[in-house]
Amino acid sequence: MSIVPFDQREGVIWMNGEFVPWKDAKVHVLTHGLHYGSAVFEGERAYGGEVFKLTEHTQRLFDSAEMLDMKIPFTVAEIDAATRETLKRQGFTDAYVRPIAWRGSEMMGVSGQSNKINVAIAIWQWPSYFDPAQLEKGIRLDIAEFRRPDPMTAPSKAKAVGLYMICTISKHKAERKGYADAMMLDWRGRVAECTGANIFFVKNGEIHTPTPDCFLDGITRRTVIGLAQKRQIKVIERAIMPEELAGFEQCFIVGTAAEVTPVGEIGPYKFTVGDVSRMLRTDYLNEVQPKKKAA
Ligand code: PMP
Repeated sequence: MSIVPFDQREGVIWMNGEFVPWKDAKVHVLTHGLHYGSAVFEGERAYGGEVFKLTEHTQRLFDSAEMLDMKIPFTVAEIDAATRETLKRQGFTDAYVRPIAWRGSEMMGVSGQSNKINVAIAIWQWPSYFDPAQLEKGIRLDIAEFRRPDPMTAPSKAKAVGLYMICTISKHKAERKGYADAMMLDWRGRVAECTGANIFFVKNGEIHTPTPDCFLDGITRRTVIGLAQKRQIKVIERAIMPEELAGFEQCFIVGTAAEVTPVGEIGPYKFTVGDVSRMLRTDYLNEVQPKKKAA
């Protein structure tokens, strides 16, 4: 299947308050965000014509920007409205939404004090993050060599482009070995997350998940914890060491793009795609659908 490159698609992209034809939404090569990683982004999904937890995502974009000393020149409400309008103009009901904010071209050098902060929102169709054929058996994960950084080393809670450098390297390595993705440890050697999703384990009917103290406390993660608790399943957030993986029965990863995806293997450790993983996947896919408004 040939994929149309992302700069060659049809439609419009919202850019700094205006709708620009998709192919014209460009930046110059001398852009601070490109040279110094001064950019933050979001990943959102629309279901049935509405972006799931839109304002939470928009707020996280603003929070990430602040962590990089960037002030977005719009309000959260303006970005929410721009997102809804872009979705409408693209004509999709189910789609992936990518807002990004970056420092522009006014200054070149590590200091970017007077660079303009640009914002764009692009929306496209992205049905499944992982091969749907792997859902039954669960995806296979490698264990990454790079580790999530200490919060003293990087703004580890920001959804900042620079933090994805180690994710891309780790995912490439994993894919070359035939894995779908890689699980990353943190700087202390504890289980952290995947390259674009949070991770959960199941043992004796209880859920265990790493405490998000140096990686993204994902919006999907929090949603899934709420759904599990609604089902009276105990959720334990704690430090998890990689050796413990041998004792877990089920594993699944969660994220806006990944939704709830069962895991069958992590390196030498095997898991079954069991009832808890299946139930929470179904619960999540129900939860993201727009709630019918009372007449
Ligand atoms: N961790 C990383 C590194 C991610 O890129 C993502 C996806 N944004 C997540 C976790 C999950 O976050 P969310 O559920 O908010 O999409």
